[in-house]
Amino acid sequence: MTNNKRKSNASRKDADLPSSSPPVKKPKEETEDPPSNAVEVPATDAPTSPARSSGRKSGRKKEEVLVKDDDEETRFVGDPVPADEARRRWPHRYLEKKVSFSLTTQVNVRFSNEAPKEFIQAKRHFTEALVDGRVSFKVGEDGYVQAGEGEESYICRVVEMFEGLDNKPYFCAQWFYRAKDTIIQACSHLIDDKRIFLSEVKDDNPLDCLLEKLKIVRVPLDVDVATKRSKLADGNYYYDMSYLVPFSSYQNLLPDSETDGNESDSTISCNSDVNANATKGSKVQEDKRSEMRMLDLYSGCGGMSTGLCLGANMADVNLVTRWAVDFNKYACESLKLNHPETEVRNEAADDFLLLLKEWEKLCQSFSLVGGGDPMSVAKDETENSEDDEADDDGDDDLGEEVFEVEKVLSICYGDPKGINKRGLYLKIRWKNYGPEEDTWEPIDGLSDCQDKIKQFVVDGFNSKLLPLPGDVDVICGGPPCQGISGFNRFRNKENPLSDEKNKQLIVYMDIVEFLKPRFALMENVVDIVKFAKGYLGRYALGRLVSMNYQARVGLITAGSYGLPQFRMRMFMWAAAPNEKLPQYPLPTHNVVTRGVSPVEFESNAVIHDDIKSAELEKELFLGDAISDLPPVENDEGRDEIPYKEKPKTEFQKFIRLKKKDMPGFASVDVGSSEHLLYDHRPLKLNDDDYQRVCQIPRRKGANFRDLKGVRVRADNHVEWDPDVERVYLPSGRPLVPDYAMTFVDGRSLKPFGRLWWDEIVPTVVTRAEPHNQAILHPVQDRVLTIRENARLQGFPDYYQLLGPIKERYIQVGNAVAVPVARALGYSLAMSCKGTATEGPVFVLPKNFPTLDVAASPLTVDEN
Ligand code: SAH
Repeated sequence: MTNNKRKSNASRKDADLPSSSPPVKKPKEETEDPPSNAVEVPATDAPTSPARSSGRKSGRKKEEVLVKDDDEETRFVGDPVPADEARRRWPHRYLEKKVSFSLTTQVNVRFSNEAPKEFIQAKRHFTEALVDGRVSFKVGEDGYVQAGEGEESYICRVVEMFEGLDNKPYFCAQWFYRAKDTIIQACSHLIDDKRIFLSEVKDDNPLDCLLEKLKIVRVPLDVDVATKRSKLADGNYYYDMSYLVPFSSYQNLLPDSETDGNESDSTISCNSDVNANATKGSKVQEDKRSEMRMLDLYSGCGGMSTGLCLGANMADVNLVTRWAVDFNKYACESLKLNHPETEVRNEAADDFLLLLKEWEKLCQSFSLVGGGDPMSVAKDETENSEDDEADDDGDDDLGEEVFEVEKVLSICYGDPKGINKRGLYLKIRWKNYGPEEDTWEPIDGLSDCQDKIKQFVVDGFNSKLLPLPGDVDVICGGPPCQGISGFNRFRNKENPLSDEKNKQLIVYMDIVEFLKPRFALMENVVDIVKFAKGYLGRYALGRLVSMNYQARVGLITAGSYGLPQFRMRMFMWAAAPNEKLPQYPLPTHNVVTRGVSPVEFESNAVIHDDIKSAELEKELFLGDAISDLPPVENDEGRDEIPYKEKPKTEFQKFIRLKKKDMPGFASVDVGSSEHLLYDHRPLKLNDDDYQRVCQIPRRKGANFRDLKGVRVRADNHVEWDPDVERVYLPSGRPLVPDYAMTFVDGRSLKPFGRLWWDEIVPTVVTRAEPHNQAILHPVQDRVLTIRENARLQGFPDYYQLLGPIKERYIQVGNAVAVPVARALGYSLAMSCKGTATEGPVFVLPKNFPTLDVAASPLTVDEN
């Protein structure tokens, strides 16, 4: 054991969000030391007495057996713990060897990247001590611990007290984190300042590092701040969750997580509510086939929710996307086509939230929420309003043309008439008029047809047209944060949340807050935890934790789940207090996550701890995914064509499965039985680009550098070949465009780059132009088709897309890779069922997601 004081300082600082370092990571210079001798170290390394706020005098002698000062004394009080009991409870302190390496006390050491922890060897243990001659501490009590100069004191629970072989008094601290010491950091203002988080990190410190005594109370997680504070009584802090550095996990406390698990040492009285709460898991035991309702926000064409449902259903949880919201109408059309069961709302998420709030008010005004029999209320109201209608009829006498509402068709919040007046609108079918005459009307102007409104609300309430708080089991979605995009020159690094382009993160969290789902899964680009010191990621976690959600963050590489694409994304899980926080599925395929996992995110990367012993399948290459697809031309105009060839690989067999044969496909509505190949057409290049592409050789690594007139310097920059006259196309424009020569300072290989069969593409993006990305088919003179991109994203072939070609590329490029979502859906199901294992990660079943498909003959249409 080395410098304990420094060590404890380090322990509070290393919980940074991107920093993945475990809290007790040793300062670098220490890790290079040979293992310290537990006997000798305190004599050589124990800090000279730190200046302390308690006014302690310095100049203590190293050799002192028990720390004493003229007027202040730090010593154990009372009898030692009987030797045999001490050896039984803390065997790692009574090893024969002088230096011991042992499994650390950290449960999650497997993911903490920490060297095995060494333990100071003990002569004997105590249960009580006097610090500075005035503060009496018992094991199990809490206190402030001396921090570095100018730093706020650390907060710990004393879980062990012992005299070292060097005769010095030590205590083992289990640390608490303030919100600002966790990944939330700069967003700690979102968290009540009385709230702290229990860590699993323990380490040893000289006894005189203890300062004041604290009273820290454990409170239930699922109550509001006021209630928590009321439990505080005369306590200094409260805690209701633990914080674990691996995957930055905020988690429910285990029922037995008080102190260090030593039965008798705990003096923390655990209020029975808390225990009941922690073990309740109310919905966990529910009927496994009852429907779990999901809301897909910023749904796009539905890659994320499709995968989540497939995965959850594979684990026998009937997860259904009941609602989806996106303001892109083509994305909505695609989603609806593939998910007829979903209420797809083509509107902005902000408006959706306002609508939900208005909808709740409407339901309240018709007494539909808060108990009661909706239909009977509806009936009463209908009768009343029929009278109103009779009154209305009288208005006809005025001789004006009066339109009569036949039916309310739908509802929205916004400005659907385009009259610059935002509010709640109803879509009306007018009596004696057809659908083409339907109009949106502000609800305020419809006061004389309450009965029709009532009928609409009652029907909508019964069919769950819109979700009310508590109706949604799962919210998934990736709020776009374009304000952090590397392409955006005007990024606001100081206050990223004030950037309009990042506002959707707030909207997303507001919707979670309003609907209070059991689970939420938020996806985003990795930049969300990197840009502006990770502010947006911290904000998201801060919001979730402030709403009493458990939460964690993982970085997942799509290729690790059986795709020839790297694509790393952030996935943030959230689970309500009584649920089990879902885990991350460990990779199934061996993909080198080349340079994608920045060092500071190591503890958030979903990777195998021991890659060698993990049974991983071989990585997939482009050819594995698309080699069975029929050749198409640059100007292919058909949306559906026959397959022509049989599948050549397991991937192709699987991706070509009919909807009804896809593992995890749950709905009865499978649509047409015809199985054609959809969307296998490329973005049509203009004549110039097409001619350029035709001249790119059909070999690995070919790109614009292979065109006539381009020369590559030794430093890998391109330049014009002075010996070759510039070539021009029939249009008069140059064969090699200037932008290709200057892209990335002339160093790029991407313009007009061909992909090759044995390659893994970096990331499928939303654009299909070949000007600054390698997106050409290996042996055909065109860019990858929509379907080829969809395959790289793991969309089953039956998933058909709608909209203009560019829009379809956007839908595919925006999506969460289906295999990643499927694996996460499986994990979600395990949490719902209560069958999830302990820890932040788990191993998917062998052959996931093929499972039984692999065993049975594949039903593949080979037309
Ligand atoms: N999760 C989806 C992809 C979503 S991409 C999938 O897996 O397929 C992000 C989507 O957000 C885009 O489709 C875009 O149209 C939509 N979007 C962006 N801003 C929005 C807003 N304010 N309200 C609703 N949708 C929005």
